[in-house]
Amino acid sequence: KTMRSPDPAPSPTIYGKRLYTPLLFVVSAPSGAGKTSLCKEIARKSSWIHYSVSYTTRSPRPGEQNGIDYTFVTKDQFQEMQANNHFIESAEVYGNFYGTSLRTIEDSFSKGLDVLVDIDIQGAQKIRQSGIDNTSIYILPPSYAVLQERLALRGQDSLETVRKRLERVRQEIYAYQEYDYLIFNVDFQQAVNDLQSIIVSEHLRRQRLSSFVKDHFIEHFSGETIKSH
Ligand code: GDP
Ligand code: ADP
Ligand code: 5GP
Repeated sequence: KTMRSPDPAPSPTIYGKRLYTPLLFVVSAPSGAGKTSLCKEIARKSSWIHYSVSYTTRSPRPGEQNGIDYTFVTKDQFQEMQANNHFIESAEVYGNFYGTSLRTIEDSFSKGLDVLVDIDIQGAQKIRQSGIDNTSIYILPPSYAVLQERLALRGQDSLETVRKRLERVRQEIYAYQEYDYLIFNVDFQQAVNDLQSIIVSEHLRRQRLSSFVKDHFIEHFSGETIKSH
């Protein structure tokens, strides 16, 4: 007798049907607001969520691992991938190219996993315009001063890079208006809980569950006789 391999996404089932279909979550934030920390923590805590690894032409920061933090590629490789429609979206951010692989997202969906993408404002706009069903979340820092502090404390970018990023934040902060949800990353655990709550709530939306209810649930309430004990 062979062992059944473990369900990669043990989502709740009812009457033998999976209750949830996988969803795409798009997270953006001004640099240093805590997107990466939040997304990684959610992915670590939850086996249903796949954190999509982006491709970038930026050089690795100390400690960043290829294939884990980003897939690091040359500009030529990146352009070839762009030409081959490898990306669901790609954008130039702070002088480097970043892109999200369409295949990675499709693979995760086929395994029943939600996908979390950490992309910049332009990337989020492109995904919105593409008409793909997605939920977008903007992470806000407590204040500009705290953001400055966090970028300095992270200590992984040159002063020039930090200056460039802080300059851009002054415009980027207004992008909050384009997103479905906002998270204030003051207390980290609270922000993690908020992100988790958003994910759960989106799955429980009536519109998202209505075809399941019609096809697999309502039938159990029709034409049944009352059972006596
Ligand atoms: P775990 O025991 O660490 O996996 O934690 P929970 O059971 O509390 O749920 C973890 C996360 O799974 C939550 O953030 C939910 O948003 C997410 N989740 C719940 N149901 C589903 C689902 O059917 N599919 C996917 N992809 N994610 C889900
Ligand atoms: P982003 O990916 O948005 O650029 P990071 O996740 O790298 O931001 O966070 C920037 C820095 O701020 C990191 O050093 C991180 O450890 C720190 N940080 C993130 N969230 C919090 C928080 N709630 N409180 C204090 N420090 C935080
Ligand atoms: P960092 O260099 O700090 O890791 O990322 C810089 C910016 O690029 C962040 O705003 C991040 O969200 C964004 N980014 C990372 N991956 C992608 C991607 O695949 N596509 C887009 N459009 N932006 C990305």
